[in-house]
Amino acid sequence: MAGRKDNHDEEYCMFCGRGETEVPLLRGIDACICIDCVQRCNEYIKEAGLAQAPKHGRIEKLLKPKEIHDYLDQYVIGQERAKKLLSVAVYNHYKRINHNLESKDDGIDIEKSNILMVGPTGTGKTLMAKTIAKLLDVPFTIVDATVLTEAGYVGEDVESILSRLLQEADYDVELAERGIVFIDEIDKIARKSDNPSITRDVSGEGVQQALLKLLEGSVVNVPPKGGRKHPEQEFIKVNTQNILFICGGAFEGIERRIALRLNTQVIGYEAVNRKKIDKENLLRYVSAQDLRAYGLIPEIIGRLPVITYLDQLDRDALLRILTEPKNAIIRQYRKLFEIDGIKLNIGKGVLELIVDTAIKNRLGARGLRSICERLMTDAMYDAPSSGSKTFNLTLSYAKSRLSEDGEKAADDADQSKV
Ligand code: ADP
Repeated sequence: MAGRKDNHDEEYCMFCGRGETEVPLLRGIDACICIDCVQRCNEYIKEAGLAQAPKHGRIEKLLKPKEIHDYLDQYVIGQERAKKLLSVAVYNHYKRINHNLESKDDGIDIEKSNILMVGPTGTGKTLMAKTIAKLLDVPFTIVDATVLTEAGYVGEDVESILSRLLQEADYDVELAERGIVFIDEIDKIARKSDNPSITRDVSGEGVQQALLKLLEGSVVNVPPKGGRKHPEQEFIKVNTQNILFICGGAFEGIERRIALRLNTQVIGYEAVNRKKIDKENLLRYVSAQDLRAYGLIPEIIGRLPVITYLDQLDRDALLRILTEPKNAIIRQYRKLFEIDGIKLNIGKGVLELIVDTAIKNRLGARGLRSICERLMTDAMYDAPSSGSKTFNLTLSYAKSRLSEDGEKAADDADQSKV
């Protein structure tokens, strides 16, 4: 048989003749080749100009919305509506890239659908965007809209967003051109129409205008190292047509505008529409109209056709966040102790105390880690040298730790919890 020398059990490379003991082999149906020869073939193909041009930017493995959703489920608690919307939007986005690359003649050019997520801080907007990027294995960057200014002002030009994406893609422009950019705090660049200042609205409308060209898809001159553009600098041209932009913002106070629109305050929407309005969660009715009233310019809203909301996380959700996600905080601490051969035991009461403290301090999910850190630091200092095989984090210990740090434990965390 080919790939096997006569009277010999060992397989060998049919090109250089070396056996499998000398070099790793790739086995075909009836032949073998070693990885060095594969490498040489590749070089030859490249040098001889025989390489077929790759289908530029095509995404080979397209995950279905349900698969994206299931993956998100492993990391993000709750936020069902946003997860579903995001899964569909991301799927459509990458489907669109492939479609537009392949069928130029059907006259249908699917437009891109950037995403806007509205929701209180610490509810998982960034986490969701990050998780999607990890799943798709595309370059991903997070930028804070508050540092952006229009050209000519102190701050960062909007093009610096793409510099970061390029850095993430190791300056592979083609890769960067289908990455994901998460623009946080987009609400902070809302036009402040009631601002009596006569100076130009540097941090507001001007930045929105500048962002527009990125969001709508155009070829942008990007300073490779970011920061300010200056004339002598060499630029890298980046086409933003297939870059997915996900914007997030808390849009504090937007509920008032939503309520106004829904007219709940005046005559009661229910009476008019016979529909029950969830007045506690007005954010779920957020629309382009409300965003406009808030101060986003219509052109920007037009470039963010997928609008979704995130729910405020309640006590139950925070408890789940502590333990359920694949990389949940408590799992991380368990692992840290486990590496030292120590089993970490935490009672339910302690978890409730952590959550109640976060709620009391109005920190939401963002506060969980810092509270855990305060509870664990001493133990993580002592435990590795103590020789003990378990660390029991009891409610009384937790309470004492939190109050020692100048923070009184949640008033209502009663003694009977553990
Ligand atoms: P946002 O971008 O909405 O302000 P983040 O996504 O940065 O909030 O959330 C901060 C941290 O809180 C995350 O790193 C994560 O640990 C935790 N977190 C927030 N929301 C969720 C959620 N829905 N599920 C799991 N963890 C969450």
